[in-house]
Parts: sequence; structure tokens; C-alpha cells
Amino acid sequence: MNVLLVRYSEVFLKGQNRGFFERRLRQKLSRAVAGISGARVEGVHGRYLVWPGVDGVAAVERAVSRVFGVASISNARVIPRSAGINPEAIYAVAVEEARAEVARLGLARPPRFKVESRRSDKRFQPTSPELSRLCGAEIVRALSLPVDVHKPEITINLEIGYDHAFVYSSQIAGPGGLPTGVSGRVELLLSGGIDSPVAGWLMQKRGCVVGATYFHSFPFTGEKTKDKVVALGRKLANWQLEPMALSVVGFTDTQKKLRDVTGDGRLAVVLYRRQMLRVASELAKAHYASALITGEALAQVASQTLENLTVIAQATTLPILRPCIGHDKIETIGLAERIGTFETSILPYDDCCSLFVPKHPATRAKLEDVLALESKLDIAALTADCLAKTETILCE
Ligand code: ATP
Ligand code: MG
Repeated sequence: MNVLLVRYSEVFLKGQNRGFFERRLRQKLSRAVAGISGARVEGVHGRYLVWPGVDGVAAVERAVSRVFGVASISNARVIPRSAGINPEAIYAVAVEEARAEVARLGLARPPRFKVESRRSDKRFQPTSPELSRLCGAEIVRALSLPVDVHKPEITINLEIGYDHAFVYSSQIAGPGGLPTGVSGRVELLLSGGIDSPVAGWLMQKRGCVVGATYFHSFPFTGEKTKDKVVALGRKLANWQLEPMALSVVGFTDTQKKLRDVTGDGRLAVVLYRRQMLRVASELAKAHYASALITGEALAQVASQTLENLTVIAQATTLPILRPCIGHDKIETIGLAERIGTFETSILPYDDCCSLFVPKHPATRAKLEDVLALESKLDIAALTADCLAKTETILCE
């Protein structure tokens, strides 16, 4: 029989909070495998075991490899200790594992190997180094493989737990980070682009539950764009393993009014963004979120110069976190591909911020100029209008 051994790393470092982190991780693991009949999560001595259900280990492995907080996973052969385990039974399973690895590598010569052992149950005899040596000797006897403790091609790992012993040879990386939920809630400004879904994912990975706000300027941005943002919302909900509230704000009237006061339109994007932050801040407060998240990257476009980011940020008192700020576009694209949002993000869509904007927007907005334009409008009324035109879609 096989089981998944699930390791966590950073979770360990959190001292007094450890219990809280472990409970969250366990809850997320359980949710990840909830759709797999018979799958079950068990906590053991600093790791989790995920027992496969009817669909086998590969199905639980796929699900668990998407859970934030998981450092690495091994598909292990299990030997129950209730059967009155003796070391020979473990060596026999280790020989089987080594035989399977030799076949998998398919080399024309016998691959070099070593055995590593770890005992959680220190009462178990022999000791770990002895166990490795004796098990190695069994493998040499059965398969004639050369031992190489420095550069092995196959590493057979033995772990002696209290209820089971485990034998495995490979380890795959999990997404790392922290279990979603241990770092509180944030509100993501989610457009249909490439960057903002990645920004949301990066915050989820640091333990945040993400809610999202999308500004929709119908009919300038069409229904297809909204569908696309909902599709992105679903993908993020899947990663955080809980439903995500997506607030869709009717932005058309507000955007036109903002545009009208800017004259030549050079400051239009700055005004749009400031208004987006005001509305998103209100929604964040209503959703118990304590920070705003954007997909901005420094100097990627005119609105993202240091000067403009500074003037935009002054429209809110909430902290704005920009996890993509230091990324080159190519790095963000790489992440978008890895997390599965890229193919949706590149579907054709209309970007509401490019509406009514001249070819050469201001790259060095001055706060006093922006405030002078805004003073011609009743900004509080615009914010209230946006909030009144907000619908909430639950993405799951
Ligand atoms: P993205 O790929 O995320 O759209 P971008 O590089 O295209 O980012 P901009 O379009 O200038 O950059 O937007 C910067 C950030 O402002 C976005 O990452 C997003 O967080 C927010 N944003 C822009 N437009 C919208 C919108 N219509 N609704 C919600 N947020 C938006
Ligand atoms: Mg964009």
C-alpha cells in the first residue's frame, strides 16, 4: 500500500503559532482531497499523511501539490507496525522500491544508490545508521547495485514512525509558502490582465485569503471581459481552497466624469486609479480585509512610474501591497503559466484604463494638479455611486 508523506517547512518556524498553522494546513489538505472518495488526512509527528482514496495516489498527489504550506511530498510504501514489524520486512520493501527505481531509470548499467534512515520512534532498533547499512547490504545482495553515498542516482529513504514505517525514493516540491488564512484577508484589484491574478496568487501563497474587486465599464468593456475576470476569480478561489467574493463595480459613469475634468486626458489614468483605490478600500473594509493588492510593476507602463504610483497611493489610507513590483513582465508571465491563469489572461479583452486616454499620458503626475482636478467633482458622491452599482459574484 502507498501513502503520501506531506512535509511543511516554514510553518514550523512560527513558534507559539504552530498549532494554529498546523490546523489550517490540515484543514486545507482535507479540502484539497475532499472530492476524492475515501481519501483521508492524518497528522503524525511533524508531517501529514494523506491516504489515497479510490482514485489512487496520483490523484491525491495532484491535489496536495497545490496546497500552500506544503514544502514537499513523497509517495511512500507503507508497512504497518501493528503487524509486529521486524527490520527484515522493511528491507524487503526497500528492495522492491529500489527495483522499481532501477526500472524507471532504465540505464544500461546498474545505478549507484544509498539508503538514508530516520526514526521518529527512537525505541526502534537498530539505530538509523545501522538500519541504512543493513538495508543497503540487502539491496546489494538482491540487485547487485553499487553503493555511493556521495553521488547516488537512487536514494532509498526509510522512515520509522510510531504506527507505520515508510519507504520512498523521490520527493516532489509543493508550492511552499503558508497555509491560506493564517495571514488574514486582503482585497485584490483584479483586472483581466496577466499581472493582477499573479499578484493575488502570491499573496495567497503568503497565507492571505483574497477577495477581489473588478471595475467594469460597460459597454466599453464588454460582457466577455467580465466573464474572463470571473474565470480568473474561479482559478484563484481554487488555489485558496475557499470561495472568493468578486465585487464587480459599475464604473462607466464615474469614469466618464473623471475623464471630463481632465481636459487633455493626460492625468486620466491617475484619476481612474485613485478612484478605484477609494472604492476598493470601502469594499475591503466591508470584507474585513486589511490591505489592497495590485499587479503593478515598477515602470511597466506610464501609470506605474514611481511618481505616479505615489500620487495614486495617496487616495487611500489602507496599505497597498504590490507583490509583482520588482518583476520583469517575462517573470510574471512565467508564474501566470505555472499557476494556470495565463491562458485566460491572454484572451482578447478591453482594458477600461485605456479608455479615453491620449497616446502620451503623464508619467510624473503632481499631487496638487490631481487634487485640483478632483476638487471640481463630488468625489464622495462618485464613490457612493460606484458602491451602489456593485454586484457580488461568488467564485468557487
Ligand atoms: P494587469 O495585467 O493586472 O491588468 P497591467 O500591467 O496591465 O496589470 P494596469 O492595467 O496599468 O497594469 O493596471 C495596474 C493594476 O491596477 C492592475 O494590476 C490591477 O491591480 C489594477 N487594475 C487595473 N484595471 C483594473 C480594473 N478594471 N479592475 C480592477 N483592477 C484594475
Ligand atoms: Mg491591465
